[in-house]
Amino acid sequence: MKGLRERLEKHRGAGLYRSRRLAQGAQKPERALDGRRIVNFCSNDYLGLANHPEVVAAFRRGADHYGVGSGSAHLVAGHTGAHHALEEELADFTGRSRALLFSTGYMANLGVAHALLRRGDAVFEDRLNHASLLDAGLTSAAHFVRYGHADLASLESRFANVEFRQALIVTDGVFSMDGDIAPLPALSRLAERHDAWLMVDDAHGLGVLGEFGRGTLQHFGLDQRQVPILMGTLGKAFGTFGAFVAGEEDLIESLIQFARTYIYTTAPPPALAEATRAALAVLRKEGWRSTHLQTLVDRFRKGVTSIGLPVLDSITPIQPILLGDAEQARQVSEALLERGFYVAAIRPPTVPQRSARLRITLSAAHKESQVDRLLAALADTMGGRAGGGG
Ligand SMILES: *Cc1c(COP(=O)(O)O)cnc(C)c1O
Repeated sequence: MKGLRERLEKHRGAGLYRSRRLAQGAQKPERALDGRRIVNFCSNDYLGLANHPEVVAAFRRGADHYGVGSGSAHLVAGHTGAHHALEEELADFTGRSRALLFSTGYMANLGVAHALLRRGDAVFEDRLNHASLLDAGLTSAAHFVRYGHADLASLESRFANVEFRQALIVTDGVFSMDGDIAPLPALSRLAERHDAWLMVDDAHGLGVLGEFGRGTLQHFGLDQRQVPILMGTLGKAFGTFGAFVAGEEDLIESLIQFARTYIYTTAPPPALAEATRAALAVLRKEGWRSTHLQTLVDRFRKGVTSIGLPVLDSITPIQPILLGDAEQARQVSEALLERGFYVAAIRPPTVPQRSARLRITLSAAHKESQVDRLLAALADTMGGRAGGGG
């Protein structure tokens, strides 16, 4: 097609070309990628639940009972007892009045912004928010305003310069490419002062932070009044697929009435809801998973610091090593792959220009020996770069 080839070649020339690798076997750390045995260090399956026998069994039972497809949208005839029970359990888990399932996190974020915001409103977003949140704000009817990363002074100054009827502040709970945690207590006080709504996307905090993995809000002890809109995804620590929004009755009813990404799409398979219910149950009873994960995070940080690599400041399983140059990040990722470790190079536009990085994620499914071997491979491929030498 006219013009596409040139554009693709330019993209390749800039070191930004992306291609998919073929993953084989079950979703767990040791698997084959493009036919090569590797240990995976870039899955978001933080608790190792994606391939948990009880989760798999629940999925299978759900399919035996319901069949595979839901047949229609939630508002037509697709909303089953499995979906409904999962919503009640998610509301209970997050300590909120109600929860509403969405097919994906991307759709949940679009749904919230489009349902709640109207012309004359303003949406304020952290500049490092996940792409789905930025897209949600940009395509909403509201005036879109970005503020500096986790920067309350920057947000305050944006408020001083924008006129609006209703404001919505939107942030990741744990930033997906950096692993740091949003300053939620301060954001909630600022929101209250300006009579603004606050929305937290806790895709990377749920299952990981807080008691029983109840997430970033629980980590800070924030309730539904302080943070009225919580979005969570099910495809990360919960090990399944999909997303939900949780909050007060009027929020959930508004989404059911007005969120087009909720209304005009087929309900996810009921068997998937059964699998997620099983994941929630496992999360509650296998507390060793988050303890082991924390041990691995501490072990990795100690190791990577002693090698002297530029690891970002993060207490979460997201442990990025900042390289800057996109082509260099690609080469290091390739060198690690040769040694049997898969660590994706994250490049612009997923992250800002000149901040390409290796995004290493740890999982309760990893063994300490695998983390140690990754550290050795990192020292081997990047040790020469330590101490600001390159
Ligand atoms: C993964 C992710 C999403 C999108 O969720 P999907 O269910 O994969 O569409 C949204 N927000 C954040 C912060 C994420 O990391």
